[in-house]
Amino acid sequence: MAQEFPTQAQVVIIGGGIIGCSVAYHLTKLGWRDVVLLEQGQLSGGTTWHAAGLVGQLRSHANMTSLIKYSTQLYTELEAETGLATGWKNCGSLSVARTVDRMTVLKRTAASARAQGVAIEVISPKEAQDLWPVMAIDDLVGAVWLPGDGKANPTDLTQSLAKGARSRGARIFERVRVTGVSVANGAVTGVETDRGAISAEIVVNCAGQWARKVGKMCGVSVPLHSAEHMYIVTGRIEGVHPDLPVMRDPDGYIYFKEEVGGLVMGGFEPEAKPWGMAGIPDDFEFALL
Ligand SMILES: Cc1cc2nc3c(=O)[nH]c(=O)nc-3n(C[C@H](O)[C@H](O)[C@H](O)COP(=O)(O)OP(=O)(O)OC[C@H]3O[C@@H](n4cnc5c(N)ncnc54)[C@H](O)[C@@H]3O)c2cc1C
Repeated sequence: MAQEFPTQAQVVIIGGGIIGCSVAYHLTKLGWRDVVLLEQGQLSGGTTWHAAGLVGQLRSHANMTSLIKYSTQLYTELEAETGLATGWKNCGSLSVARTVDRMTVLKRTAASARAQGVAIEVISPKEAQDLWPVMAIDDLVGAVWLPGDGKANPTDLTQSLAKGARSRGARIFERVRVTGVSVANGAVTGVETDRGAISAEIVVNCAGQWARKVGKMCGVSVPLHSAEHMYIVTGRIEGVHPDLPVMRDPDGYIYFKEEVGGLVMGGFEPEAKPWGMAGIPDDFEFALL
């Protein structure tokens, strides 16, 4: 049965990618009930659907490490809670160093992660090769191993979070575009959409690469711009299997993960190439560059 479109809500979340659905999931988990999420296309169809799905706890900022540590716990339990699979696979991850300086950085970050309770080991190139046998190690200085890391399916995760939110009362509407954010006395009062206005106490901008445009609707500057991201998907490679850890090689600006018996290899572009200088099309849904 079609849901009645609301005219008011305590919270309106703009955007049904993984972030918007996670906000809805967590607000309802905290007991908020009057939560409405609006997505202009289909859930996860913006950026989320084509993320590689790497979940890595080794971060340069302690808050990010604790956030991703929490995510690994959540992803372990979410399917049992919602009945929707998330594709979470606790395959662990390796980060390798080709220089002494890189190894120093990895060791420092490892010490900080360990202090937050993240399982992490500093290992030799040979030990790294034992975990990732399809790798040559002659140019490696060392590596770190995080057994708690893994990978997930971003679309399935989004649907699972959305289901958890819905089960606790959140109302989620697809194919509804927010066209304006209303403000009075310097505070938000609601949103305008192509299906009518909704008044709200709180509006959360989870519009991903459209967040700058949404911010502009109420005079807020969101310092965010899309950049191109390249990746290669190979055919099957002998020795590559679903439990192969995720591998990051920051000196080579590249990450690797197993997919259907082959590898997805994506770049950490040192000089990111901006995309969408004339604006991001509203209908850029389940689309690639
Ligand atoms: C190739 C690739 C690989 C990646 N790999 C990883 C990875 O391995 N690990 C990782 O953690 N991250 C990865 N990322 C990053 C990750 O995908 C993003 O950080 C994440 O998906 C952002 O989610 P989001 O919800 O903020 O944005 P989105 O998924 O883009 O969601 C925003 C939503 O807002 C909607 N919206 C916008 N404007 C409006 C409006 N006016 N009204 C209604 N709805 C609106 C859009 O339609 C969209 O669905 C990768 C990204 C790419 C491109």
